[in-house]
Amino acid sequence: MKHQNPKSTKKFSLDLPNIIPAVIVFVALGGALAYGFIQISKLTKSIDSLAAETSENTARLSQDIVVLRAQNTGLSELLSDTRQNVEAVNTKVGGVEETVGSISGTVGTLQKLSQIDPELLKKYSKVFFMNENYVPVHLTEIPSDNIYSLSRAEQFLTEAWPFLKKMLDTAKSNGITLYVKSAYRSFGEQQSLKSSYTVIYGAGTANSFSADQGYSEHQLGTTVDLITIGLGGQLGGFDSTKAYQWLVDNAYRYGFVLSYPKGNSYYVYEPWHWRFIGVKLATFLHNEKRNFYDVDQREIDEYLVNIFD
Ligand SMILES: [Zn+2]
Repeated sequence: MKHQNPKSTKKFSLDLPNIIPAVIVFVALGGALAYGFIQISKLTKSIDSLAAETSENTARLSQDIVVLRAQNTGLSELLSDTRQNVEAVNTKVGGVEETVGSISGTVGTLQKLSQIDPELLKKYSKVFFMNENYVPVHLTEIPSDNIYSLSRAEQFLTEAWPFLKKMLDTAKSNGITLYVKSAYRSFGEQQSLKSSYTVIYGAGTANSFSADQGYSEHQLGTTVDLITIGLGGQLGGFDSTKAYQWLVDNAYRYGFVLSYPKGNSYYVYEPWHWRFIGVKLATFLHNEKRNFYDVDQREIDEYLVNIFD
């Protein structure tokens, strides 16, 4: 039995061990391959789903961007609107501040105006007469040094007196002698004065140089008839004196103007008759070479608030 077929036994026993590893290798390779396929397939699926997901996300993001852009545009518009509103509010606030400022200015002006007699700058003409009951609120007696005739006391509006005094004092220091011939006249005094003129000269002549308007200014307490030495106490001829020329050149500095200058169409020429209207208005008239009675009443009234400045 030992020698019967040694070769075949040996061959068989030799082949089997050779096949087994090959099979193992084959199986292993197959498995690996299968595993690889599975993994690749899985990976492909993952990539596909990732791609799908990415594209989905991209689409969603695009949508989001569109929405955000729209919102941004809306916000920009809102911001722009808000800015405009803020500017509009600022403008309004500025306007309100200006209004408040001008209101407080106006209130100050009105308070000042309420203490000033509006009659002081009124024009009295053949049409506009002064109320016969009008009496100045405060009157001051003019010192005798400044009065020509001591036969009667002369009074002047208290608030305007410092301006007249300064004018007379300055004239004196410049070698010009000026006296007050006549100052405040009440309506009654003016009436009796007029009737005495009427008796002497007749109604027509009296009206031409002693008309209501002319003496109405004396009723204000802010008007004076001035006289100087060398005229024998007369008013006539005053315009040929140095004193008159000094007044023409300087009276405005103290707030005085000639009411009825030569050639005026309101009243007879009265070179001695000077009315206080305030430095500001008198300076304006002097610079513009205009006469008080030629200026519109509304324009004159704007100076009332500054009459005692
Ligand atoms: Zn007069």
